[in-house]
Amino acid sequence: MSAEANRGLHYEENLLWEKERCDHPGVDFPEPQNTALRTGTGARGPIGLPQVSEPQAIRHFVKMSTWNYSIDHGLFPLGSCTMKHNPRLNEKLARLPGFAQIHPMQPESTVQGALKLMYELQNWLAELTGLPGVCLAPAAGAHGELAGVMTIKRAHEQLGNKGRTVMLIPDSAHGTNPATAAMCGYSVKTISTKDTGRLTVAAFMEALGDGKDVAGMMVTNPNTCGLFESEMQEIAHILHKAGGYFYCDGANFNALVGKIRPGAFGVDVMHINLHKTFSTPHGGGGPGSGPICTTEELAPYVPVPTVAKDGETYSLEWEDARPDTLGRLKAFQGQFGMHVRALAYMMSHGADGLKQVAEDAVLSANYIMARLSDDFHVPFEGPCMHECLLSDKNQKDAGVTTLDMAKALCENGFHPMTVYFPLVVSGAMLIEPTETESKETIDGFISVMKDFAADVRAGDTDKFHEFPESTPRRRLDEVKAARNPVLRWSGS
Ligand SMILES: *Cc1c(COP(=O)(O)O)cnc(C)c1O
Repeated sequence: MSAEANRGLHYEENLLWEKERCDHPGVDFPEPQNTALRTGTGARGPIGLPQVSEPQAIRHFVKMSTWNYSIDHGLFPLGSCTMKHNPRLNEKLARLPGFAQIHPMQPESTVQGALKLMYELQNWLAELTGLPGVCLAPAAGAHGELAGVMTIKRAHEQLGNKGRTVMLIPDSAHGTNPATAAMCGYSVKTISTKDTGRLTVAAFMEALGDGKDVAGMMVTNPNTCGLFESEMQEIAHILHKAGGYFYCDGANFNALVGKIRPGAFGVDVMHINLHKTFSTPHGGGGPGSGPICTTEELAPYVPVPTVAKDGETYSLEWEDARPDTLGRLKAFQGQFGMHVRALAYMMSHGADGLKQVAEDAVLSANYIMARLSDDFHVPFEGPCMHECLLSDKNQKDAGVTTLDMAKALCENGFHPMTVYFPLVVSGAMLIEPTETESKETIDGFISVMKDFAADVRAGDTDKFHEFPESTPRRRLDEVKAARNPVLRWSGS
């Protein structure tokens, strides 16, 4: 690699496997003398693993770590992902030896504190959602969806409800919703939200039909357009009368936490992305955790284990204590480290602090929408919740698309927003600032976006097709990368 590549403290780095690094053993062992091989002859040939010294190995990985953009670098406005600051207090508590160094196979009598923590977390989630049946086991949001829809399926089976093979899902849904329904053997019927971005009773009734074949409905609230589903209570009522259950995708709970309990608008099951709403590192920074919360009625069916308390003793409940359960979906009891972080986050904020989280997240998003609405097309009227949805409609005819603006954001030192999602809006840009960004940071983002719009109005558009210019890699052929991924290194 040329010295050129490392100009300006902007590092290029070869793969460890590349030839120049293959014959520098990190440790000098003397050649073995007079020792008979005990593994048979011919066992000691080169095996092609890279050989580098400890400092070389450390520099290799540290340099590559500087390529990662993270929430600790700057604004991460990815809509639907809730990339908020992860308080270091959570990390400190998760690293306490009494939490970090226990083993899931220890006798329960020796981990009473950990079980108590999980029990408390179950209670906080039950209180915040208004849904008392909590299972912490699922390992991510999508896994929570699977657990939740399997809970619905199990309930129908146990109650002897036959012929319910359909799951109703709005067209704005996250892709994991229809994928989950299909994995559970349901066919998906789409509810149209076209004109308003919201579910209406009329569109729901049309999808429901006589409802006899409907197992349930999966809805995100606030929805993926960043809008509150205001007809939800009535829709849930009609669904329940038809014998279906209401699954709520809780990924957007950051907009509601502490303000409203989803059980109050008719939810039967929902998952919580602890790593979104309750701030644990995610998106390459750490594992997720997707507990589910259900009504009293559905609680017997949720996966095992759940944590129970008897007097002052805590225990995990398995199939023998919970005969109606759908069974087990995860090794041991789930992502315990995430449980510690989430409870630390909840307890350090308190009920009033969590409410303020939702209020400030919604305020930040509406501030962006208000300041950018003269420059960018706003597909749906009215205030938004914790994320604001724009599109490239005003720029597209001049040849500047959502993708171009996302690349231009990289050039200007910002992580792009979520692009081309939700699919119901052409050229969607979904911006979620979260409550932890300062006004200065948000203003910086707004001003860069306003500059883009001004450039397009002035006809200064050619440069948009070249961005990013200063990043280690420029524009990639994304279609080729997706269609023909190169998964093996074959030398340079
Ligand atoms: C993030 C998200 C999911 C999936 O959650 P994971 O934890 O990434 O599996 C599902 N639905 C919506 C709306 C989301 O934003």
